[in-house]
Amino acid sequence: MKKFVAFTGYACNNRCGFCVHLRRRALPQRTTREVVAAMASARRDGCDALELVGGEVTIRPDFLTLVGTARALGFPRVALASNGRMFSRPGFARAAVAAGLTDVMLSLHGDGAELHDGLTGAAGNFKELIAGLAALKAAGVGRLSVNSTVVRRNVRALPALAYLLVALEVRSAEFIFVDPSVGGAAEDFEEWVPRLGEAASAMRRALAIGREAGTSDWCVRYVPLCLFRDWLGQVSELREARAFSSVRHWAPDFVNDDVQGSRRDGARVRTARCRGCRLEPECEGVWRGYAERRGDSELEPVHG
Ligand code: SF4
Repeated sequence: MKKFVAFTGYACNNRCGFCVHLRRRALPQRTTREVVAAMASARRDGCDALELVGGEVTIRPDFLTLVGTARALGFPRVALASNGRMFSRPGFARAAVAAGLTDVMLSLHGDGAELHDGLTGAAGNFKELIAGLAALKAAGVGRLSVNSTVVRRNVRALPALAYLLVALEVRSAEFIFVDPSVGGAAEDFEEWVPRLGEAASAMRRALAIGREAGTSDWCVRYVPLCLFRDWLGQVSELREARAFSSVRHWAPDFVNDDVQGSRRDGARVRTARCRGCRLEPECEGVWRGYAERRGDSELEPVHG
């Protein structure tokens, strides 16, 4: 499988302070024609998985057109990353599924309104997301998942967030260690980036809560493998590497034809401490920006 990820533009109705696109909001959106041409080209190149990403794609007036066109181009599944708010509007989820939307990944960063709305920068977000999630389920969307960015302010709430996901019957979820390479977390590292050891411990606890609830389809992303040595089947990068021979990004301001390779050999790093670690061949290591600021003493190389 080859995956094509189309960043249609960075405009968003949320204001997450840790967002990697924090300073890109004002860049011009890709036009409908440009997005359609890019999707068609990806399809001709043999891409079979499509992901629409923003900013927030659902606030585009052509959102339903893009979904329908993607299906007409032959993408068997059309996935969307979203903050979920628009799906709380009457009829919106049904219209999106009818247009051909098959997979939705909703971003939920807290176990309740106070934390989620605080992190996303607007009152009412949590309520709308929960309503949107219910509407998508009722509309019969094929696959619904939740992703949560792990930042300093929500680390301790991860177990409570995991129990909320269990209560919402979310079978597929991802806990993502915040990216300090660019955007909000790069600008204010100490405000947003938790200690790796503390975050990993909370993320493992969240995975365990998922297991207890009967799902092993909860994953972690952007973490050193050594801190998840007993959870390697639930590391997103490893799953992605097995599922996709290539992942390509297309955005208003860049194109990246080798997302996995450039992350492994650019934004992330294996350090001197990794020498001899038997997980190294598959591991992307730690965010370079993290290693530069906090060192590598939290890594636990696996020998023997
Ligand atoms: S290569 Fe480094 S970061 Fe990766 S598992 Fe080994 S010690 Fe950890």
